Amino acid sequence: MFDCMNTNTSIDLEILELQHQVELCFELAETFFNHKFQPSHCNFKQKGRAAGTAHLQKNELRFNHFMYQQDPVEFLNTVVPHEVAHIIVYQIYGTSVRPHGKEWQAVMKKVYQLSPNRTHTFDLPPTKNSYLYACTCRQHEFTKRRHSRAQKGVEYICKQCHSCLTFIKDMHQTESATSNDM
Ligand SMILES: [Zn+2]
Ligand SMILES: [Zn+2]
Repeated sequence: MFDCMNTNTSIDLEILELQHQVELCFELAETFFNHKFQPSHCNFKQKGRAAGTAHLQKNELRFNHFMYQQDPVEFLNTVVPHEVAHIIVYQIYGTSVRPHGKEWQAVMKKVYQLSPNRTHTFDLPPTKNSYLYACTCRQHEFTKRRHSRAQKGVEYICKQCHSCLTFIKDMHQTESATSNDM
């Protein structure tokens, strides 16, 4: 009778963990400012290079599940307060202050006892088109599959300028090496 347990159990638990941490961050801010803030909705909709984003007008926090999975504890302790701090600053000051300006930095330091880092150290999700090629008129992004064909000698011609495409760089490598804004 119990063989059809919902396969989403683990993500449901992760969402609960995330919500719990967001609530905790709000509570800390409410205690500190002695002010009731409008709680944000949160989800794991964030994709790509960002660990999380704060959508101020929607009062929504999006977090990157690919990065969360790498180290949930680190993620909850750094990325969540970082994004909640954006919401707190917005609800106090509106949009008149810089996103990572002194107000946001003060929330990070005084409310969360964290150094106000703008970058994260999580691995980036693999990007589909991460191989950069160029013809004489523009740049083209190749998939891994197309790149390996090109490396085996298959020639690709630009439809516009009819010149042969040449390999420039593996963008995924360079992206991973740089730090990323949260
Ligand atoms: Zn071209
Ligand atoms: Zn930020």
